[in-house]
Amino acid sequence: AERPYIVGNWKMNGTRAMLAQARAIDRAAQNLMKVEVALAPPFTLIHATHREVEQIGVGAQDCHCSSDGAHTGDISATMAADAGAKFVILGHSERRQNHAEDDALVRAKAEAALAASLRVIMCCGETEDVRDAGEAVRFVTDQLRASLPESLERAGEMLTVAYEPVWAIGSGRTPTVEEIGAMHRAIRALLLELYGEADGAAVRILYGGSVKADNARELLAADEVGGALVGGASLTAESFMGIVIAA
Ligand code: 13P
Repeated sequence: AERPYIVGNWKMNGTRAMLAQARAIDRAAQNLMKVEVALAPPFTLIHATHREVEQIGVGAQDCHCSSDGAHTGDISATMAADAGAKFVILGHSERRQNHAEDDALVRAKAEAALAASLRVIMCCGETEDVRDAGEAVRFVTDQLRASLPESLERAGEMLTVAYEPVWAIGSGRTPTVEEIGAMHRAIRALLLELYGEADGAAVRILYGGSVKADNARELLAADEVGGALVGGASLTAESFMGIVIAA
């Protein structure tokens, strides 16, 4: 298969002391070139991480939908790019839930990110209630359809989708390989419809939610899984590289 893409999302973790982990991840990744490795540290560490690493990609965890202006406390895509980010994670369930981000806002952020030449990792995922009701595939494809930019140049290069079931994040629980495969096939069908045959097929679809070194190989073998978005297990070089090696 193609080169797996393993992305660490540090969430609200990390002071400068954690740059040692970023350095260690970068050094280890230089010996594992068959895997594409990236980290999304908090905004405060983007520039320092960018300066410390040679091999791995560095990105942001969010951005504002405007390029500048009177938005106290916010960070624009242009600013994240200026600090060294090459991509931005958007639509994470923690932002949708804790910051009331709806699909329209997530789409506006994606358009701002692309205008600043940032690649986008677009997150989607259902709650446990939705899965129990048998509506997971319909919910996720609706959420994606409303969150992704309607037109997108070079989608295969600029866009990655991350399927992260809300109930699997930080819980130690994961869907079965069959459930992941079914969801990723539905997402692939949507991407082909939205962006056409070539670009729709080239967009990578990551799985996220309780990925660890000991389940990574199995989860990454599911249909249409091109890599993983990793939270807790990306916080040390040892646990993160365990996943990268398993990929
Ligand atoms: P965990 O790997 O801690 O479950 O987090 C997943 C996630 O939300 C990555 O964006």
